[in-house]
Amino acid sequence: MLVPQMVEAKKKIRKIVIDAGHGGRDPGCHGAYSYEKDITLAVAKKVGKLVQQMYKDVKVAYTREYDWYPELKERTEFANREKGDLFISIHVNSTPKKNSPVKGTLVLVCGPTRVDEKEYAIGENANNFRENNEEMLDPNDPATAIIIAQYSQAFLTQSIVLGSKINEEFGNQGRVTEGLRQQSLQVLASSAMPGVLVEIGYLNNAEEESYLNTPEGQDEVAMAIFKGIKFYKEESEKEPAKVINEN
Ligand SMILES: [Zn+2]
Repeated sequence: MLVPQMVEAKKKIRKIVIDAGHGGRDPGCHGAYSYEKDITLAVAKKVGKLVQQMYKDVKVAYTREYDWYPELKERTEFANREKGDLFISIHVNSTPKKNSPVKGTLVLVCGPTRVDEKEYAIGENANNFRENNEEMLDPNDPATAIIIAQYSQAFLTQSIVLGSKINEEFGNQGRVTEGLRQQSLQVLASSAMPGVLVEIGYLNNAEEESYLNTPEGQDEVAMAIFKGIKFYKEESEKEPAKVINEN
């Protein structure tokens, strides 16, 4: 896997990479009648549209624009090749139970885990541990620890600025929120830019499944993510550019 380059923080936000989780042969999680991969794609496109409507000078690059499965490595290589300034990965959560009362949004950033990671190995991560274990890196592996440390040094502070705002916006919309957490996420750790992975709700919760399948629900979710991007852009463009790599 790629070790993120220790690039300096950019001032102008010119390109945003939007990653619709899963796709193609990988449907992600599912509810009673819908799949994660379809909802993530719909929301990703709505976020991209909002960005393009608001900012003519900002480019949007999608890791996928239709129903296929780019490997995680392909997604991050694409993001790095595109030289994105932000990476937004969109996912839907679930629990192992079929019809669960658990609901809410969760925003993940990549960083050293402060609490017992197993405690949080629910939903998205429980799925991945069971099925492919792609998204989580083993934080106890020394090589992984170095990658996570490098990524964190370069991008964690900015990622938290973005993620906290998205979480706050979900709260403003009246959604249940599980807050912001740090995890050793591969799709973020390998990308050389600040980023977040947003779990936009639980698909095995009947109420959230119907919400996430309506255009109105998708619009709201996209708006919360967009407001996070807008806030981040304004914050990073008003302050003088910080040089991360001061030698
Ligand atoms: Zn997912």
